[in-house]
Amino acid sequence: GDGDGEATTYRVGIDTTYPPFEFEKDGEYTGIDIDLITAIAEDQGFEIDFNPMDFGGIIPAMQAGQLDLAIAGMSITEERKNVVDFSNPYFEAGLTLVVKNDTTDIEAIEDLEGKKVAVKTGTTGATFAQNSADEYGFEIVQFNDSPAMFQEVANGNADALIEDYPVIAYAIAQNDLGLQTVGDRLNGDQYGIAVLKGQNADLLEKINTGLENLRESGKYDEILNKYLGE
Ligand code: GLN
Repeated sequence: GDGDGEATTYRVGIDTTYPPFEFEKDGEYTGIDIDLITAIAEDQGFEIDFNPMDFGGIIPAMQAGQLDLAIAGMSITEERKNVVDFSNPYFEAGLTLVVKNDTTDIEAIEDLEGKKVAVKTGTTGATFAQNSADEYGFEIVQFNDSPAMFQEVANGNADALIEDYPVIAYAIAQNDLGLQTVGDRLNGDQYGIAVLKGQNADLLEKINTGLENLRESGKYDEILNKYLGE
C-alpha cells in the first residue's frame, strides 16, 4: 500500500493477437497498446502485469474481478459504458468490410445477401453484423481471434469479414494475406482504456493524466510512429 515504497501492480487485460496494437514478438508483448500502457505506468508510478486473452473474455474477466484495466484496441461504446468506465480516447478507428483479393461480387454491405460473414466474438464488428444481418440477408460465423477470422476468408470458407480498419490495413501491409478491404468505412469509433465501472476512479485519473503527459512530451507520437510510420 501507500507509504511502504512499493508500487501497486495492476492486472491488464490484452487481446492475444491484435497487431499493431498488441502482439508477441520474440516472446515479448509489443505494440501500440503495450507501449502506451507501459509508458503511462512509468509516468504514473504503477506496475503492470499483462493478461493476454481472447477479446471476448476481457470484459467478463473484468467483471469477475480478474483484471483491473484493459487496453485491447477496445472501442468506446454506449453499451460497454454500462459496465466499464473509459479513459479519454487514444486512437481513431472504425470498421471495414474485407474480402479475398479475387472476390469481385462484394463491394459493399449491400452485396452480402446469401453470403457468409466472419466476425470476432464480443467485438463491435460482431455487433455491427448482428444488427445488419437480417436487413442484408447474410449469415454470421464467429471466431475467437482475428487470425482465425482472416484465415477463414483467405481459405474461401467465409465470403467476407468485418474488422477494425487500422488492424486489417496493418495485417495486409505486413503479410501476404490475400485479402482486401472494400467499400466505405462502416462506422467511426475511438479506442479507450477500460476500468471496471464505478470502482477505479483513482486508476482512471492516473491513466488520463499519464496519457495527457505522453501527448505533451511527444512520447505518444513516438509510439504511434514506431508502429504506423510517420
Ligand atoms: N475495436 C473492436 C472492439 O472494441 C475490436 C477490438 C479487438 O478485436 N481487440 O470491439
